[in-house]
Amino acid sequence: KNNQIKQLDQLGAIGQMAAGIAHEIKNPLTTIKGFVQLLSEQAKSEYSDIILSELERIEFIMGEILLLAKPQTNISFKKENLNKIILEVMSFMHPEATIHDVVLNRNLAPIPAVSCEAKQIKQVLINIIKNAIEAMPHGGNIRIKTYYSEGFIRMNIIDTGKGISKERLQRLREPFYTDKEKGTGLGLMICYKLIEDHHGTLHFTSEEGKGTCVHIKLPVAT
Ligand code: ADP
Ligand code: MG
Repeated sequence: KNNQIKQLDQLGAIGQMAAGIAHEIKNPLTTIKGFVQLLSEQAKSEYSDIILSELERIEFIMGEILLLAKPQTNISFKKENLNKIILEVMSFMHPEATIHDVVLNRNLAPIPAVSCEAKQIKQVLINIIKNAIEAMPHGGNIRIKTYYSEGFIRMNIIDTGKGISKERLQRLREPFYTDKEKGTGLGLMICYKLIEDHHGTLHFTSEEGKGTCVHIKLPVAT
């Protein structure tokens, strides 16, 4: 337990430093991007496209790091209907799912309101659905379930993807832990942080070759 707290403290310090660096890099990056865009207007070349797409990747990673370390001061928790949030995310993700031959299903039971920052819960859901789509290169199914049980609102996101081995299950929370060529390994770390900021829990169960279930538990709004 002590060790866990120590690890979290360390993560905080490293996170703050990473955010500081990300912030410092942002301005020169914007300048570089602007000038590359100008250059490519003058003399269009395939190199400028590569430079721009790589710059966009740096911007994306910086954005994720900044999000991780962002101090939780100006967030406002409101009573929200989680099912409504899920329906919004499902329609937002529908095109991307369809492109990858993934069908999004739902089983949404009547549930009490949850006290949350809707934007953050959406972010968590989008990260998890993206991971599920990426785990199904030949298509498949994603089912999102909600129900109420023992004082908590429960949400399951179940996919029929490649699954996660026992060893890898232990490491999902680690920053930069990814098995994807273009992955950042930051998505789940952000999900854990946001759900824990909501006094909820997040955990995974999985069977290799069969699929993965993400279990999220959130307290009912008082
Ligand atoms: P990234 O998506 O950039 O790799 P994440 O933090 O979102 O980073 O995920 C970390 C790793 O967890 C992924 O690279 C993948 O190996 C594993 N993972 C997450 N969700 C799933 C899933 N639904 N099915 C299989 N593997 C998953
Ligand atoms: Mg991801």
